[in-house]
Amino acid sequence: MAPYDSNNIFAKILRGEIPCAKVYENDYALAFNDIGAKAPVHVLVIPKGAYVSIADFSATASAEEQAGFFQAVAEVIRAKNLEEKGFRSIANTGDHGGQEVPHFHVHILGGRPLGAMVNS
Ligand code: AMP
Repeated sequence: MAPYDSNNIFAKILRGEIPCAKVYENDYALAFNDIGAKAPVHVLVIPKGAYVSIADFSATASAEEQAGFFQAVAEVIRAKNLEEKGFRSIANTGDHGGQEVPHFHVHILGGRPLGAMVNS
């Protein structure tokens, strides 16, 4: 796993160097709209700590950070009213996962039927 790069775009958002359309924030996580939304609802949830991937986060983040992160995920689901119709949550990881930004994030997509999960 590559070391954490503090110049990645989500690190810049966390430092306030780049704006975001905030959906929710707590002590451990920030949620904001994806700039290239692929669905009517497309929110990214990121931890405030420096973690490259879901593997890194789940192996090394504290219990408080992990709980705070998933509390933010739950809050986005509630705020966007996604539970009844359903939604998709994705954590792209590494080269094969197509991860573009090397700061752990979960995509939450919904608001329309999303079809098959993987096209090719
Ligand atoms: P991934 O391929 O899982 O790393 O996804 C990275 C996501 O970050 C893509 O869906 C981008 O549209 C999104 N993204 C990149 N820059 C920004 C930004 N400044 N604000 C919000 N979303 C962004």
